[in-house]
Amino acid sequence: MKTTGYAALNAETPLAPYSFDRRELRSDDVAIEILYCGVCHSDLHQTRSDWPGTIYPCVPGHEIVGRVIEVGGDVTRHKVGDAVAVGCLVDSCGHCDQCLAHEEQMCREGVTLTYNGRDRITGDVTYGGYSKHVVVREEFVLSIPEGLDLARAAPLLCAGITTYSPLRTWHVGPGSRVGVIGLGGLGHMAVKLAAGLGADVTVISRSDAKTADALALGADRVLVSTDAEAMAAAANAFDLIIDTVPVRHDLRPYMPLLDIDATLVIVGQLGLVDEISTLPLLMGRRRISGSPVGGIAETQEMLNFCAKKNILPECEMIAIQEINGAFERMEKADVRYRFVIDMATLEGPAAA
Ligand code: NAP
Ligand code: ZN
Repeated sequence: MKTTGYAALNAETPLAPYSFDRRELRSDDVAIEILYCGVCHSDLHQTRSDWPGTIYPCVPGHEIVGRVIEVGGDVTRHKVGDAVAVGCLVDSCGHCDQCLAHEEQMCREGVTLTYNGRDRITGDVTYGGYSKHVVVREEFVLSIPEGLDLARAAPLLCAGITTYSPLRTWHVGPGSRVGVIGLGGLGHMAVKLAAGLGADVTVISRSDAKTADALALGADRVLVSTDAEAMAAAANAFDLIIDTVPVRHDLRPYMPLLDIDATLVIVGQLGLVDEISTLPLLMGRRRISGSPVGGIAETQEMLNFCAKKNILPECEMIAIQEINGAFERMEKADVRYRFVIDMATLEGPAAA
């Protein structure tokens, strides 16, 4: 199938139009016409080679919403016309302990990522959702529940599940005190989802510029991380802190905010953080953890939860031709709170 999209051809030049082939349908494949794709900070990291191992051309995008246009002969879960979604994962081994426990994101043999991964059969590079079509194995295609707004659902597929998963892992519910560092794409979903689960939610931001937004999103208050007095007053105030900061940073100011036995879970920066002190860890049995997206079953659970609770991302719709400007704004934390590409703006050949 011929399709078209936008790709990074190297780490330096802007993303540009790019035509390529999607594989012929295998018996368990679903072909999707992409309607919307969210813009994740990971797309910026990967295309700019902030992270190692980028294979160029790189077609990013792992917050995909679309409609099924064709299915393989053995597909039972989806049919032509269904509203579906694809997140960060498109395949895994299916038989290791992690896959059997529905934690495909931690597949022992290595999960296949939606872009910049390798197809498990052909070894071809995977291309993501900044494109008109995608072909994915049916088990990795999510169903969009009835009533969920298609135009706003896309960011749930990464920003949503990446923040929902730790909230569930650490059993957040009514009475939980949750802090969210960084009010961007992931951060704003963490706020909505934690509030939806009944938690008391504090946004921990670098300034008070986003305070009105944070409260409107469902946060109970904002703690300004550059206000030393306010930070001192918030000692021991959290059971769980979700850290979405996308760059190397200092965790030390946040550690005293954790209560005894509480956890700071990093979902942002991949790689080094500044030197940490073991003192707050030892003295309060506090923990620092990390968390990668979430499994397919948990992603479906999150989509169903959002449909039931009417939880939707705040989206700024863009044409695909605006993607490079969107990247620039994201780098400056000037996103309120997720760019979503309307794929109708991408003219291309019809599906074969
Ligand atoms: P984003 O929309 O750009 O939001 C990041 C937020 O972090 C900003 O809005 C800003 O909030 C804060 N921030 C930015 N620069 C900062 C700095 N130098 N120091 C302190 N805070 C800063 O990014 P995103 O799409 O939410 O992604 C966040 C990170 O998560 C990225 O690194 C991305 O690659 C990663 N990610 C991880 C997973 C996973 O599986 N764990 C999945 C998806 C994304 P304030 O203005 O409020 O301070
Ligand atoms: Zn992402």
